[in-house]
Amino acid sequence: MLDLNMQAAGLLHDMAALQPEGRSSLGYKRAAKAVVALPLPVADLMRAGTLREVPFIGPSSARIIAELVEGGSSATVEKAVAASRHSGRIAALRGLRSGFLSQWGMESALARAAPERVVSRESFRGDFQMHSSWSDGSEHLEVMARACMARGHSCMGVTDHSYGLPIAGGMSMADVVRQHREIDRVNTRQAGTFRIFKGIEANILADGSLDLDVEQRRVFEFVVASPHSLLRRAEDQTARMLGAVRQPGVAILGHPQGRMYNSRAGVAADWPRVFAEAAARGVAVEIDGNWHRQDIDAVLAAQALDAGCLFALDSDAHSIGELRFTDFAIAHARLAGVPADRVINCWSDDRLAAWMGERQAI
Ligand SMILES: [Zn+2]
Repeated sequence: MLDLNMQAAGLLHDMAALQPEGRSSLGYKRAAKAVVALPLPVADLMRAGTLREVPFIGPSSARIIAELVEGGSSATVEKAVAASRHSGRIAALRGLRSGFLSQWGMESALARAAPERVVSRESFRGDFQMHSSWSDGSEHLEVMARACMARGHSCMGVTDHSYGLPIAGGMSMADVVRQHREIDRVNTRQAGTFRIFKGIEANILADGSLDLDVEQRRVFEFVVASPHSLLRRAEDQTARMLGAVRQPGVAILGHPQGRMYNSRAGVAADWPRVFAEAAARGVAVEIDGNWHRQDIDAVLAAQALDAGCLFALDSDAHSIGELRFTDFAIAHARLAGVPADRVINCWSDDRLAAWMGERQAI
């Protein structure tokens, strides 16, 4: 899908990278951020003559965007890159921006026609990765639950960090007992209308094992295993990711690459092999919708679909404002043509509980 807003943002980030750190670099970064958040394509704003009304888009940013809209590239940016000594670094940065959707790109992906079986916002029942104040999230668990209900969801999975990630305020197993009591209280109160599933985000270690032992994993209804380290290595980490997928009790492979927009590529691996293993073991592959992650994207999701994978489409929200990131996950899945039946977030509570039970038993 051609997402011109995302391309425009990329060019503005090129310019930011070519400036010495300071006001002009920050100006381009702010302009890029503004373009990414636009609800309309930049071409429409240009035609309407309203591009300069967007906060943070100054004359130089507007000129770059105009060149892109009119000619498919920006002579200003290419000239600046050629005149600098940083063309190698710019090429590397461009590689760290591929496969991301802007707000407008996401909305048009959700709105575009697709066969009825393909996942949509309407078929989505609940979000299965989010963080509360039990770890590094900013809101209380019940506040997160209420916000999910307000979004029209009928279930959710809370996945605070495990104790192996102290930097993210990981929960001790004693905290987990208290958190589960709180979840039981909310579930009793909401019985029949909303259910919280008890999850955890475990940390994948360098050798593919997890920071939680097998007994500790059984305390939860489902375990998301995600990489949070070694995300800037060029070496292949297929063995690590295969190891994680094969760990007993794992239900979801969370943000599989660990990539970050304009910053890091994340884990390099033979993804079709990892996806084939996940499919064989019934482990769902996550599309993490956090805007800076979008991990995995539509291209890899299509490969995971071919491999026969299940999917989890999650926000990875750390505040109620971030719950909207599920839309980015759904958009990538929709672009990849993932059917709702393959998406755990669309399943009934009973089907979810049965699948989670099978994962726990392995
Ligand atoms: Zn994570």
